[in-house]
Amino acid sequence: MSRGRILSGMRPTGKLHIGHLSVLENWIKLQNEYDCFFCVADWHALTTSFDEAGNINANAREMVIDWLASGLDPDKAVVFVQSDVPQHAELHLLFSMITPLGWLERVPTYKDQIRHHHQKGKDIMNYGFLGYPVLQAADILVYRADTVPVGEDQLPHLELCREIGRRFNHLYKPVFPEPQAKLAQVALLPGVDGRKMSKSYANDLTISADPEELRKKVNAMVTDPGRIRKTDPGNPEICVVHKYHGIYTAPELSTIEEDCRQGNIGCAACKKILAGKLDETTSPIRERRQRIVQDPGYVDDVLREGARKAREEAQLTMDMAREAVFGA
Ligand code: SF4
Repeated sequence: MSRGRILSGMRPTGKLHIGHLSVLENWIKLQNEYDCFFCVADWHALTTSFDEAGNINANAREMVIDWLASGLDPDKAVVFVQSDVPQHAELHLLFSMITPLGWLERVPTYKDQIRHHHQKGKDIMNYGFLGYPVLQAADILVYRADTVPVGEDQLPHLELCREIGRRFNHLYKPVFPEPQAKLAQVALLPGVDGRKMSKSYANDLTISADPEELRKKVNAMVTDPGRIRKTDPGNPEICVVHKYHGIYTAPELSTIEEDCRQGNIGCAACKKILAGKLDETTSPIRERRQRIVQDPGYVDDVLREGARKAREEAQLTMDMAREAVFGA
């Protein structure tokens, strides 16, 4: 039986933060079970960061280094940059002809994102941003992917992708599969100050942080403000450190919770345990990262070969799509 095919990607945001680890762990598992295409979505980055395009290449590179250091294997999965495969843009164009505007305006995140950027003084009401779900559909369907790992919040985008593919198949010829969601458990970790983790808030914890940086960031994590003395009974539910323990110190979580509630452990000691666990998890990644950085030609080779394989597969789809639209 042939393996299923997966497309997934990330916008190039530079060095990844620790919240991305669960996504990468899932990708690493999937690369053994499916034919996987993992893409640096640099055109997607342009939809909102068109005025910061100069950072995109450097960010893409740092991100790919983190992918590889975390265990993504270019011998098992196709790793490439979206803009190295122009077939994404061509399919996006064909899809844009058949996608009603109403479908795009109904995307739940569209208005939220416009508002969010507007509050930061940025206008992203451009043609590209409205159409980014169409580009996303092209990203998936240009490989005829049948499976897409998504979080619950991305299900409406995948449904839109299916609708676009269905419409194409109905108007012309059946070319595209209907990709199914593979729901991924993504650990949503807050930044050290308890807000959403983001570089712009300077509250993030990168996968590649060295032990000293890790220690500093963990020490800066917000805890139960009611705890003044070590013996004060604490409330772990409102503590950022506790959220991280839930993932990185899971076997000892109930003991930590109990000790916190009983006032048997101080926050400094509790943070020390967490910093140690985080270091244990990320040190093999850091070591692999160092080796990759010392051989810059390696990343170039991975991306060149990935783009070649991706273009080859995408061109097969485009031959079918062109034939479906324009005839032989
Ligand atoms: S003891 Fe640990 S879980 Fe409890 S408030 Fe302090 S840091 Fe948070």
